[in-house]
Order: sequence, then C-alpha cells, then structure tokens
Amino acid sequence: MKQTTEIITITLETCCSCGVPFGIEESYRQELIKNGQTFYCTNGHNQYYTEKKTLENKLKEQKAVNKSLECRIPLCESKVLYSFIQYRFTNKLKDEGIETIGQVLKLGEYGLMKIYGIGKAAIDEINYNLNEYNIRLKP
Ligand SMILES: [Zn+2]
Repeated sequence: MKQTTEIITITLETCCSCGVPFGIEESYRQELIKNGQTFYCTNGHNQYYTEKKTLENKLKEQKAVNKSLECRIPLCESKVLYSFIQYRFTNKLKDEGIETIGQVLKLGEYGLMKIYGIGKAAIDEINYNLNEYNIRLKP
C-alpha cells in the first residue's frame, strides 16, 4: 500500500453562535478573511470574518484622505493667491506676509478674519474657489 504525507495547517475556530469548536484549513481561512465570505460551523451557523473587512474599509478611506492631501500640496505650493481672491484682498494678505494659498489654509477663517480688511466676503470668495479642489477653509 502506497502512502503519501501532506502537511496542512488547520486553524481552530469557535462558532460565535453555538460555541462548537471546528477547524478550517489555513489557506482557505485566509481567503475567507480576505473576501469576507460566509462559511458555516459544523452545526450550520453562518460565520464570516468582519474585522478584516472593517480594517480594509478604513484603510481604503484613509488612502482616499491621503490622496486628497497629496493633491493639496501642489495646490499650496504653486497656486497664486489672486486665483482664489480678488486683487484688493490679495494686497491686504501680502501686507501680512501671506503669499500662498497654503498659508491661507493654515490660518483658516478665524485667522483670516483677524486681518484688517479681510471679512466674510473675502472668506466666501476663497471658499468658493477652493470648492473646485474639494477643500474648505477650517472655521
Ligand atoms: Zn454554530
């Protein structure tokens, strides 16, 4: 009689409904974690791995946030102020040493309102033009 030996890894799981312990072959388990697919305990209760999916979604969201932040960097470095605000406001900002939209974003609405000659109209105008980049001034 011919015999072959195969080594496989079985991971012990416990049913979240009835508590019965059961084994899942590890590579299959990894697949279940990855795709969040339903599997069953030996008593037939539905199971699926949720934490992985939640973390993956969080990662996806965070990557989108990072992407939008990356998009802001060239905006902050290269866009000239007068493309966001009327020339008369640009001059008031320049008097305060503010020359980039990056500085404006850092100040936010509150910081800008403290500058003489900058008011609600200027803030609204900046926000209107920032909208194209999906950005708003912080309050
Ligand atoms: Zn069960």
